[in-house]
Amino acid sequence: MIDPGDALNRLDEQLDQDSSVTILTGAGISAASGIPTFRGDDGLWEEFDPSELASPQGFQRDPETVWEWYDERRQMIAEAEPNQGHYALAEWDDAFPKLSLITQNVDGLHEEAGSESIIKLHGSIWEVSCWDNCDSSPGSWTDRTAPLEEIPPICPDCGGLVRPEVVWFGEQLDPAVLDASERSLNCDVFFTIGTSAEVHPAAGFITRASRQGAFTVEINPDTTSASGTVDLAVQEPAEEFLPRMNESLGIN
Ligand code: NAD
Ligand code: ZN
Repeated sequence: MIDPGDALNRLDEQLDQDSSVTILTGAGISAASGIPTFRGDDGLWEEFDPSELASPQGFQRDPETVWEWYDERRQMIAEAEPNQGHYALAEWDDAFPKLSLITQNVDGLHEEAGSESIIKLHGSIWEVSCWDNCDSSPGSWTDRTAPLEEIPPICPDCGGLVRPEVVWFGEQLDPAVLDASERSLNCDVFFTIGTSAEVHPAAGFITRASRQGAFTVEINPDTTSASGTVDLAVQEPAEEFLPRMNESLGIN
């Protein structure tokens, strides 16, 4: 395991303001905000079968249970605040003009911390759309009501069901979003922060960035399947390491 001081020196060698930097974040960046990750010991998947809840089939079978689960998560997220990890990354917008931030999170905390132009790989828990895609409803719309007034919520245009605009198991990613992510893999330094690197295609991004010549960095207190392959694995919580890194590299 690398000493945190050595990690800072190596990052200082790799980064300057001309560097193109791409960041991929996962549930771990929001853990310190009190939002459970999916695969940790007390992760959400310990309690639920994801294919039951977060899938089109699960929704079709039992929209009420699915929405009850999302309503609970929406309430939890509504009360959460960005942590020092989100705020530290928001400082990178100015520090690195060639920055891309890809997130697998649906919680909106990067925006709240001030990050701009985020590539939201898995959508947003605050966006909804008509399940039947009815002609009169807009493609999707923002609904920040938490708790919801009615479960399941109803499309104002056709009276049918509304779904959360998040990417469920078995669903394709938005091609435009995927395309933007893939273009950003051609970068100088690639950071993977707080993701178990098990969900595709995000998991493959690290290898692809590396093949295209990027210096790859993982920030995660635990070992993941990516830890052995990245150029630098920092085994620390993001909310502790990132503010220290900003201070050490003069990013503020
Ligand atoms: P994951 O739950 O599979 O993995 C989380 C990772 O974060 C783990 O490797 C864990 O070791 C690490 N981690 C825990 N605390 C950390 C900290 N303080 N700092 C840095 N790392 C920390 O999550 P994933 O890889 O993002 O993939 C799961 C899917 O779950 C994603 O598709 C995402 O959409 C969804 N999800 C989103 C949220 C959210 O929006 N906040 C929460 C849970 C799950
Ligand atoms: Zn409708």
